Amino acid sequence: MSSYVTDLLAEVKAKNPAEPEFHQAVEEVAESLALVFEKHPEYRAAKVLERIIEPERVITFRVPWVDEQGEVNINRGFRIEMNSAIGPYKGGLRFHPSVNLGILKFLAFEQVFKNSLTTLPMGGGKGGSDFDPKGKSDLKIMRFCQAFMSELYRHIGPNTDVPAGDIGVGGREIGYLFGQYKKLRNEFTGVLTGKGLNWGGSLIRPEATGYGAVYFAAEMLETKKETLEGKVCLVSGSGNVAQYTVEKILSLGGKVVTLSDSNGYIYDEEGINTEKLHFVMELKNVRRGRIKEYVAKYKNAVYTEINPKDDFNPLWNHKAQCAFPSATQNEINGKDAQNLLKNGVYVVSEGANMPTTIDGVNLFLDKKILYGPGKAANAGGVAVSGLEMTQNSMRLPWNREEVDKRLQMIMKDIHHTCITMADRFGTPGNYVNGANIGGFLKVADAMMDQGVV
Ligand code: NAP
Repeated sequence: MSSYVTDLLAEVKAKNPAEPEFHQAVEEVAESLALVFEKHPEYRAAKVLERIIEPERVITFRVPWVDEQGEVNINRGFRIEMNSAIGPYKGGLRFHPSVNLGILKFLAFEQVFKNSLTTLPMGGGKGGSDFDPKGKSDLKIMRFCQAFMSELYRHIGPNTDVPAGDIGVGGREIGYLFGQYKKLRNEFTGVLTGKGLNWGGSLIRPEATGYGAVYFAAEMLETKKETLEGKVCLVSGSGNVAQYTVEKILSLGGKVVTLSDSNGYIYDEEGINTEKLHFVMELKNVRRGRIKEYVAKYKNAVYTEINPKDDFNPLWNHKAQCAFPSATQNEINGKDAQNLLKNGVYVVSEGANMPTTIDGVNLFLDKKILYGPGKAANAGGVAVSGLEMTQNSMRLPWNREEVDKRLQMIMKDIHHTCITMADRFGTPGNYVNGANIGGFLKVADAMMDQGVV
């Protein structure tokens, strides 16, 4: 590690204590950017990275709400407005009990680079709450969303900050949030993305992150003149990203053998086919049940409960060629990365944000496998959110083929940027450097143009 990166990280840790995920995200990016600063000292002199690390604005607020039993509940709400050099802040809202300032800052920081890579004019942001939607009635969810938006509406707008979904925030939550925003502002605008189709949403938005991660994997394989046809794939999670990852892998001829949730995972050696995927979609999106129920229906599959004391995740310990982590951050540690490599995995395309620890990333890079980091591989979601904003501005919806074609083009462009930048800075095939550098340069140049603001 260069002394510049060491000093920078020491300062970040001192100024932002108890935010390990944020430190991790900054460390990974700073290591890549050291290559840029050697050639371009002007960015360092203008302290561009130091400025990107400091959020433009952090909003935290109380979210009090009353449930149907009359009980008063208090949650904490956040919005991190990280960087607006190339467009309005853009990034999802996460509702999960683990949400805290450090996790949202890491996500907002990643989002700045990811949004830049999409080629669309979007800055970076992220937000959410420690509210846990799991097992809650629709009425509780609606009341919470309305209370959350009763404060957030002051800070967002179609030209200021445009939130979307993330863990725990899907179509239902976006609907309640949008309804409350519209009531408070008395205006119908594209202030959120991931909206319903008949009130301003875009076709392919629900599918976009998963499809995009698979398109990115296909692009990486293409560099070796290979395809996904016949490849065995491990997928984690069973939410939005995981479901559409499976759908696209199946349509490209791959075989998926795992899915998970926070309690455990299923292994289905015969493969999760379209019918089984529809069962999972109904289970997760309508009945809101647990993945364990899969094995009650499909008897040949095996369910394994996750043991939090284990220092590895058994999901990553099966024979396969490809892995699509699609649940959450740091779900692949060094040991999991070793298991993946040992079992023959040579393609990792990250649907989740920062699912691999730095140890794991370094192993993938050392072994020179096709490793697509989240900020490149899962950028399809925000890219189609950007396309939703375009359609809202035009007041004209595009058809499915049009949006999917644009999504594929964007994923191709992102892949091309990663490859080109990795080459230009002397680390061919290193998608981590490619994504970090490609994402950085556009934002950095905009910041240089706009002065110290
Ligand atoms: P989601 O629909 O809420 O699904 C999340 C899935 O991950 C669920 O199966 C959940 O299981 C599991 N999970 C969550 N926290 C976990 C934990 N601590 N340990 C193990 N499993 C856990 O969310 P999503 O939209 O698919 O997001 C998944 C990942 O993709 C996140 O990293 C998110 O930031 C990233 N991402 C999402 C988008 C998007 O467009 N939605 C875009 C880019 C990146 P439970 O049901 O048990 O909670």
